[in-house]
Amino acid sequence: MKIKALYIHIPFCRMICSYCDFYKMVAKPSLQTEYINHLIKELELKKPYLKDIQTIYIGGGTPTALPLHLLDFLFYYLHQNIDFTQVKEFTIEGNPNDITEELTELLVKWNVNRVSLGVQTLHKEKLKFLNRNHHEKEVRNAVALLKKAGIKNINADIIFGTPQDNWKLIRSDLTKIINMGVTHLSVYSLILEEKTILYYLFQKNQFQPMNPDTEALLYNKIKGFLKKYGFKQYETSNFALKGKESIHNLTYWNNESYAGIGSGASYYIDYIRYTNIKNLNSYFKGVSTDQLIFEEQIVITKEEQMMEEMMLGLRKTEGVSLRNFQDKFHCTIEEAFPKIKQLIREKKLFIKKNHIIIPESLQFVANSILMEFV
Ligand code: SF4
Repeated sequence: MKIKALYIHIPFCRMICSYCDFYKMVAKPSLQTEYINHLIKELELKKPYLKDIQTIYIGGGTPTALPLHLLDFLFYYLHQNIDFTQVKEFTIEGNPNDITEELTELLVKWNVNRVSLGVQTLHKEKLKFLNRNHHEKEVRNAVALLKKAGIKNINADIIFGTPQDNWKLIRSDLTKIINMGVTHLSVYSLILEEKTILYYLFQKNQFQPMNPDTEALLYNKIKGFLKKYGFKQYETSNFALKGKESIHNLTYWNNESYAGIGSGASYYIDYIRYTNIKNLNSYFKGVSTDQLIFEEQIVITKEEQMMEEMMLGLRKTEGVSLRNFQDKFHCTIEEAFPKIKQLIREKKLFIKKNHIIIPESLQFVANSILMEFV
């Protein structure tokens, strides 16, 4: 299977958000330099897998927290190892207060054409609760600078479900952010993950998460509101203006192969799912001896591949193509999952235009429907 997508993990942040359980750390510049040197070495090791790359996604962490000279260095080596004439989408994640004129110039110089901003909200108290270190003015400034530099494909990540949230707050945030000119919105409900500051506060009884029914109500209002503004939902949490869907993320939801580099990066090649070790010293040791060390290396059996095809594909509003499934696995979806017929009878799934789909009204509880396959 062709590998068309490359994920690059930068595990550094300026500060730690209260809800975040991603692999990240606050690090000194010398460690960041050492990391980028090893990342480039891993990139060179992986070169044989990178000849068909069409999308690149630099995520984290906060890639824009890197000093500009390190980003420049990384971009230079990406161009040395990847045929950029084939690259359609090149995304970098960033925090609004990192976006400066110098950074946007650098991004344009190296063909970055999509920026995903960790906005979450514009509301002061909610920002404080999430331990985010930007303000509305900086989000406005970031989007304006990106557009001025010619980067018009801009995503904003939004979180809802905090104790501050209500429809008025979210509607105000969404209206302002849409008017700034973003083209894509990723809207996630707050998940209380263990080993986060919020989880600790929750255990100390210092806040209560939003009731799931209220959360579902808000989600439906968000969907309706975004639709009116021309943002088409194409995945459970993702909405885009026409033609601005993330090609890179669709690779994941279509259950296709992808490459990855960096400590903590996951990748899926030849039906094996790898996650690079989440420890910088071990990562450096593995890369320098050409013997990568993995956090996980799991062979995905045919049954698991079929399951993943459904779990990932049903997150898309267009659902899973019956024909693609049969071409890939040489059996029908009904043969692979006899329970499907019952779920269709119960109206938890339906078939339209040769695709199997979760009804719009059940998208918020999609996970529980997916669990019924297991
Ligand atoms: S949410 Fe993003 S910016 Fe905040 S700590 Fe996690 S990775 Fe860093």
